[in-house]
Amino acid sequence: MEAFDYTPLQGRVVFGQGTLARIADEVQLLGCRRPFVMSDAHHVEGAAARVLQLLGDQVAGFSTEAAMHTPVDVTERVLERVHAGAPDCLVSLGGGSTTGLSKALALRTGLPQIVIPTTYAGSEATPILGQTEQGRKTTLRSPRVLPRTIVYDIDLTLGMPVHLSVVSGMNAMAHAVEALYARDGNPITSMLAEQGIAALARALPVIAADTRNAGARSDALFGAWACGNCLGTVGMALHHKLCHTLGGSFDLPHAETHTVILPQVAAFNAVSAPQALQRVARALGVDKAGAGLFDLAESLGAPTTLKAIGMSESDLDKAAEIATSAPYWNPRAVDKGAIRTLLDDAYHGRRPRN
Ligand code: NAD
Repeated sequence: MEAFDYTPLQGRVVFGQGTLARIADEVQLLGCRRPFVMSDAHHVEGAAARVLQLLGDQVAGFSTEAAMHTPVDVTERVLERVHAGAPDCLVSLGGGSTTGLSKALALRTGLPQIVIPTTYAGSEATPILGQTEQGRKTTLRSPRVLPRTIVYDIDLTLGMPVHLSVVSGMNAMAHAVEALYARDGNPITSMLAEQGIAALARALPVIAADTRNAGARSDALFGAWACGNCLGTVGMALHHKLCHTLGGSFDLPHAETHTVILPQVAAFNAVSAPQALQRVARALGVDKAGAGLFDLAESLGAPTTLKAIGMSESDLDKAAEIATSAPYWNPRAVDKGAIRTLLDDAYHGRRPRN
């Protein structure tokens, strides 16, 4: 075994079916009595209404204003209502956007959070917060934004449409793929990364055929946690850098961008991190990681081209320029020409050979 450093993330995980019913107990377990609740428009009449009902007159306020990439103006607006309600904790139910709002409020108030995720984005398992202000996305890492409790309820994911399930699952896998070749990688994170990729790769085709399959939903949600944990414990590289650039500067949809870029970056990095990419391939049950990820997305009807998700070809030069303007670590050296070629492959959806 090679030398390594590893700092586990603190936090309680409640995982199972019907766990939402335990939300009031979880608030109490934190020693809290007045939660401020957040959710999204999709859940407002269903699961969010149930949370409000379960928490009853303890609730200090409610918001459904979360938006993709956590805009600071939205956070500041909701923060005024948080101050007015004087809560002692935050409870959020929704995808990565709702989790993002909760984290942004936790950063500003120091309040403990309980997060109930409804997609596979994985943000609930990380001390990372991305925020946008005047069109610029910045990312920070702080223990203040790490949720104290995650409540995973498989029932909340049974109705997730196939498209969202697949792209969100690929978003999660991206965290694990980059964890396997992370500069600060360690055997514990790598073990979770392989398990997370395998669980999602096994589950997504079953979900695409039968969205309400509880066994596959359970595997996928576990995979989301495992992959999120990878993002939370080690540093990321080219894939996350490129997705950050494409999402932040060209307004591309988050999970879809990860889905299109991941196979191309996996193939690009296979030359310099062959063992890591072999582990990815093994977890996927294929020979080549990049080709396997591409085939998985394509077979499940997910996008495989940047063209299909709103990128214009004339912006590829600018994207390559931005993504290589500041140096960052990646197992394979990154230069503008190579990234421009990678983006061209992603734009046209060429199946990688590696
Ligand atoms: P999202 O939260 O914006 O959800 C996408 C859409 O799906 C929304 O309209 C939402 O209402 C709906 N939705 C959510 N759950 C659903 C369900 N179960 N069934 C049907 N519809 C549902 O998107 P996301 O992909 O979950 O998260 C993306 C955001 O998360 C981005 O802002 C990204 O930056 C952030 N993120 C952050 C981290 C981190 O560690 N900081 C990690 C991953 C993603």
